[in-house]
Amino acid sequence: MKTILVCLAHPDDEAFGVAGMLSRYAQDGARVVLVCATRGEEGEIADPSLGTPETLAQVREDEMRCAAKTIGAQELIFLDYRDSGMAGTPPNQRADAFVNAPAGEVIPKLVGIMRRVQPQVVLTFEPFGGYGHPDHIAIHHHTVAAFHAAADADQFPDLGAAWQADRLFYTVILRSQLAQITQAMVEAGMPNDGFTAILDNLQWPEDEVHLRMDVSTTIDIKWQTLLCHRTQFGENHPFRRIPETAAKATLATEYLALVWPVPTQGTMVTGLFVE
Ligand SMILES: [Zn+2]
Repeated sequence: MKTILVCLAHPDDEAFGVAGMLSRYAQDGARVVLVCATRGEEGEIADPSLGTPETLAQVREDEMRCAAKTIGAQELIFLDYRDSGMAGTPPNQRADAFVNAPAGEVIPKLVGIMRRVQPQVVLTFEPFGGYGHPDHIAIHHHTVAAFHAAADADQFPDLGAAWQADRLFYTVILRSQLAQITQAMVEAGMPNDGFTAILDNLQWPEDEVHLRMDVSTTIDIKWQTLLCHRTQFGENHPFRRIPETAAKATLATEYLALVWPVPTQGTMVTGLFVE
């Protein structure tokens, strides 16, 4: 069975970058397994009627279940750590924050999942986690380490037989992609609300993309996935204040960098799985 394992940090991380391709592959019969390190306890609450800081973990777990179902994922696994919050904020210091979880604890969890699920393809963030969120960076490091450890029979022999996935990809957000949104915001006469700061943080080189996937056939499913995350993707979200067609046009292409096997210069692949 063709299986895609997606290792990300918060409910909604799957929605922006890869929901279109995941739902497309799910429609074609692939198994999609989502790993979410935290429940996004430090996220926004777009509308106070949706929850409180105390209930947000449960609310966002429910939102994530909605998203997984909408995508057509077969399995959703929470690693049960706490959202570390943005870099430099007090939640970074909490003992249960994902950023403080020891590698020796997280990596075996992921190795066990990889050996049980046996994915051909593993997806995670690139090393800077898009815009530098500490949890994005942490899940990147742990997933890459687990990807290689899972394939090594000498490591964690009690966690099942070694499993070598065919490919490891990073999900990447390109400056040019968000620049389109910024342009749409300008055209809609909207203030830029810190969007420029996010844009300035995006560092991934535009030419280090090995899979550029048109997901226009599943863009409406992707939009529904985003709407599952009601606390994060409220009416005031920039993507919801520009014309829906402009938002969907930007979201209809998804970008991945192939990192294993190490691509040669100019490599482009046409799909997630080895043909
Ligand atoms: Zn996130």
